[in-house]
Amino acid sequence: MQKHADFAEFTLIEPSADVSTARHGWRAKCLQRLIRLDLPVPPTVALPCDSVRAIAAGQMPDTARLMALFGAAPLVSVRPSPENPAWGGPGTVLNVGMNAERHAALARTHGTEAADALYLRFVQAFALHVARLDPDMFSAPPASGALAAALAAYEAETDEPFPQDPARQLAEVLRSMARAWEGTTARLLRAAKGAPAEAALGLVVQGMALAIGPGRSGSGTIQFVEGVTGAPQIIGRFRGQENGPRADGGISEATLFLVADPRGPALEDVAPELFGELLRHGRICRERLREEMQIEFAIEDGAIKVIDAVRVQRSSRAAVRIAVALANDGIISREDALLRVEPRALSDLLHFQVDPRVPRDRLGRGIAASPGAATGKIVFTAAAAQASAARDEPCILVRRETAPEDIRGMHASVAVLTERGGMTSHAAVIARGLGLPAIVGASELRLNGRERTLTTADGRVLREGDTLTVDGTTGEVLAGSPAMLEPALDDGFRTLLRWADNVRDIGIRANADTPDDARTARMFEAEGIGLCRTEHMFFDEDRLTVMREMIFADTGEDRRVALERLLPMQRADFIALFDIMAGLPVCIRLFDPPLHEFLPHDREGMRELAEALDRPLSEVTRRVEALTEFNPMLGMRGVRLGITVPEIYDMQTRAIFEATVEASRRGAAVVPEIMIPLVSAKREVEIVKTRTDAVAAAVRNETGADFDYRLGVMVETPRAALRAGEIAQHSAFLSFGTNDLTQMTYGLSRDDAGRFMGSYVAQGVYREDPFHMLDEDGVGELLLIGAKRGRETRPELTVSICGEHGGNPESISFCRAAGFDYVSCSPYRVPVARLAAAHFALLDRARPQNTAGIRR
Ligand code: PEP
Ligand code: MG
Repeated sequence: MQKHADFAEFTLIEPSADVSTARHGWRAKCLQRLIRLDLPVPPTVALPCDSVRAIAAGQMPDTARLMALFGAAPLVSVRPSPENPAWGGPGTVLNVGMNAERHAALARTHGTEAADALYLRFVQAFALHVARLDPDMFSAPPASGALAAALAAYEAETDEPFPQDPARQLAEVLRSMARAWEGTTARLLRAAKGAPAEAALGLVVQGMALAIGPGRSGSGTIQFVEGVTGAPQIIGRFRGQENGPRADGGISEATLFLVADPRGPALEDVAPELFGELLRHGRICRERLREEMQIEFAIEDGAIKVIDAVRVQRSSRAAVRIAVALANDGIISREDALLRVEPRALSDLLHFQVDPRVPRDRLGRGIAASPGAATGKIVFTAAAAQASAARDEPCILVRRETAPEDIRGMHASVAVLTERGGMTSHAAVIARGLGLPAIVGASELRLNGRERTLTTADGRVLREGDTLTVDGTTGEVLAGSPAMLEPALDDGFRTLLRWADNVRDIGIRANADTPDDARTARMFEAEGIGLCRTEHMFFDEDRLTVMREMIFADTGEDRRVALERLLPMQRADFIALFDIMAGLPVCIRLFDPPLHEFLPHDREGMRELAEALDRPLSEVTRRVEALTEFNPMLGMRGVRLGITVPEIYDMQTRAIFEATVEASRRGAAVVPEIMIPLVSAKREVEIVKTRTDAVAAAVRNETGADFDYRLGVMVETPRAALRAGEIAQHSAFLSFGTNDLTQMTYGLSRDDAGRFMGSYVAQGVYREDPFHMLDEDGVGELLLIGAKRGRETRPELTVSICGEHGGNPESISFCRAAGFDYVSCSPYRVPVARLAAAHFALLDRARPQNTAGIRR
């Protein structure tokens, strides 16, 4: 006699039955909820994961007793029920229990054609999925003789007649589904969707709703929102018999629309009472399951059966709209609505997206460096991009990698594609700041700058002027111009983020260099500017020339003259920023990059510069060479320039103070924040502070206006973090520049690391690219040390992060737990940061004991 397990082998799902998602899977639990809501669900039995595991190991449950729960002539379906619906599972098997006797009975009540079709479908499914026979032999459509042929083929292939005992049929189906779940392919597929290695499968056995009968019968699905936009809309189909059985005893099938439609008959017209009942079921599901569900139903002789219900599949924009609508309707709380939207998914709403419903012709793939999608004509130089923009032709700038002089070309493009580079390469950082879709490191594509061609791995050659699409969300380069979805900065998006602001407890600022950036920061409701990189203001053509004159100045006096020409330009920049930010804090970083970045790198550029400066070419070339450093990122840049060429910082601080006076006169009072980059010693701060105080006193004197300002330090060298205690003596704030801090902590060039990062991550040397994901163990320790030592000296010290990591949810969690006051990130990442910060606050509230050093 067969030995049975000591756990409950199966459970008839009733309102009070002991069914749980962990033990029986999501589908069993969901069906129990539908049953509790009194929806007309056919009798359903849940097999717990333990049972299914035992079945896979050969220990079968008592399937005769199980089948008996479905009456004397049972017909059942078997569906998978893993803990998470995303993990998939083996396909559903319908009509288990179908045999010659049942076939004869059905032929009498519903006609031969209907009975043949049902039996044939079961034989085919059993042959394919259980007996694993050749699909070609079991794919015939229902037609006269097809059933007999399938039964004969089964017998010929297996040397036994098709099994007639329903209990045996069920046992075989259960065994094959349980084993399929254990197979390697299924394991790999679900692991890719985040399932743990030990993920288990439950199974659900349900009485078949036959969807055939003399009265209105058929089956279908219905949902009440559109899955891409989230807009309320009834969507689905109903496949039914047209007018009951035909005169010849057969059945004619027809697909009906659900809602009245000019293209053809609809269930709403032909059976309004059934349609009304479906709407009622939908409403009950939405209100009581607190979710938008897709309902699978059958109509058997005029009676609706609810077979299953699954959460509506949705895009990011639909997820936001659905969550906000459920909260606005009082079905879920605002907190729940916040937690139902994945923060990173919000960035899909800020940009155009390739419509997920259209096919993609992929040319290549790279690193998805800046989200969103755009279509344009290929250009290979910044100048061509500007010319294209002047003609109002959208273009995509394709470069091996970009350099500071490409910024204007990037501005003129709708997207950027580079063959080289990583997440913190120039192209990636600038594109994220500008909100331009970008793919970097697309090494599958070969760029030939001289021929102006781009060749794909499959040999297609694209030329300047050809159209392509950059999908910076997925990292895919696509041919042509696929249909796009527009950005969705709608009411739902804004409402959700306002709710997020009400619960989050860490500030969110934006990194913004230009008035356009600042306007974007305001649009996304950043609480201020956490980093304004002033050097980006000098790349406009008129300024670049003056800048170069300043660099070439022989004497302090000549330098001062050039800087005096830059002063009004800088002052105007800052006035614009202060005006746009309207009293919100603005943190301006003094000049940071090595000077040679402003000099031409090729002969043509040198010649032009010689002309502009009226100096011999040889002198220009010599000076450029003299400024060239072996390690410019570790050389004459940041505060080192401020100490050795102090006139630059004098000009900048004067521009900041004069702008403060001017902007405060006409609008909200401004308290500028001035940040010193690349500090490694307290004395650097003292020197800059002394000069800055002197400039402030001079401007106060000259203008007769009083103003405050805050001077702070950008912590981007390990030494600054370690010496934060003494540096804080002269600093109102510390802001961690984790791009340089990562570079210097690892001794890893942020511009070159892309070359081996892939191999390092693949071999597990680094868990992630540390320029992309904050290295909490190493760089993070420096952040903790710096914040702690700084605050020991000055408890009111403002502490923040402004490197690229600032917008990552993981870093926000880290900085929040460490008691930072705010994070600052690219304007386009602000919405993600606002929602992520709210998530962490809510999750902490749910765990009140875990307050890990939170200050605010
Ligand atoms: C940093 O180093 O983290 C930073 C924000 O500055 P930049 O990227 O301009 O060097
Ligand atoms: Mg830096």
